[in-house]
Amino acid sequence: MDVVDRINKLKEEKNAIILAHNYQPKEIQKIADFLGDSLELCIKAKETDADIIVFCGVDFMAESAKILNPDKKVLMPEIEGTQCPMAHQLPPEIIKKYREKYPEAPLVVYVNTTAETKALADITCTSANADKVVNSLDTDVVLFGPDNNLAYYVQKRTDKKVIAIPEGGGCYVHKKFTIDDLKRVKSKYPNAKVLIHPECNPELQDNADYIASTSGILRIVLESDDEEFIIGTEVGMINRLEIELEKLGKQKKLIPLKEDAICHEMKKITLEKIEKCLLEERYEIKLKKEVIEKAQKAIERMLNI
Ligand code: SF4
Repeated sequence: MDVVDRINKLKEEKNAIILAHNYQPKEIQKIADFLGDSLELCIKAKETDADIIVFCGVDFMAESAKILNPDKKVLMPEIEGTQCPMAHQLPPEIIKKYREKYPEAPLVVYVNTTAETKALADITCTSANADKVVNSLDTDVVLFGPDNNLAYYVQKRTDKKVIAIPEGGGCYVHKKFTIDDLKRVKSKYPNAKVLIHPECNPELQDNADYIASTSGILRIVLESDDEEFIIGTEVGMINRLEIELEKLGKQKKLIPLKEDAICHEMKKITLEKIEKCLLEERYEIKLKKEVIEKAQKAIERMLNI
């Protein structure tokens, strides 16, 4: 029996499911029960009747699964080095400072935040619904964090004043892309459509054919008649696109905007670690009851939109 068979056997014995983010390595994506972006995985985590959820992604994603399933066992195959750096950029002390300065403004936080931060927010959002979430609020000013580039994206799609917090907040992977990268790749593939994630810098967003979350990118690539795409997000997304195109028997040219746009925190999980995780039921995500209750309200409010 190879490692994939052993994982499948353990999954069945323990009534476990594997959720994996679009940025995971291809071999992990291939054995996952569900693949998706943060929002899709949040919804799957909420719907499942499995006893154990094995989460292949980074810390805040597994925490969100736990927040939505407090009675289930949520495991991560690796705990070392799987902390999303952006998720830790908006700690409670910074929130307190901005709350004091803008007492009337609701706080919208990206799901890419820690459970403690979500517990202090009015509502969460993902890159797939950030503009809808902000527009749903009955207020003229909102605090929005921690991704300044996503805040820029939202500001362009709302009449509200969006205050991006903290200054300089954002994802180190998506901030790597420059307009020169885009010009260089575009000159080589002039007919390719440019798909840019809203975590990328404003000048990239302003020069995109489409700005979309990973689920949006997937939809556009699968459904459009275009044959060539420049993909402006973490390179693991290309794995997801290839898997889905293969299922449909389609072939399209997918060009990464930058080959080295790699999220190292997303690449710590291996098949062997998943097997060990299922065998030993490690590493379990544990959160305080009051954090779960408060964070749940902020996530549920988003899911209801
Ligand atoms: S790609 Fe960026 S936002 Fe996503 S997990 Fe990695 S560091 Fe965090």
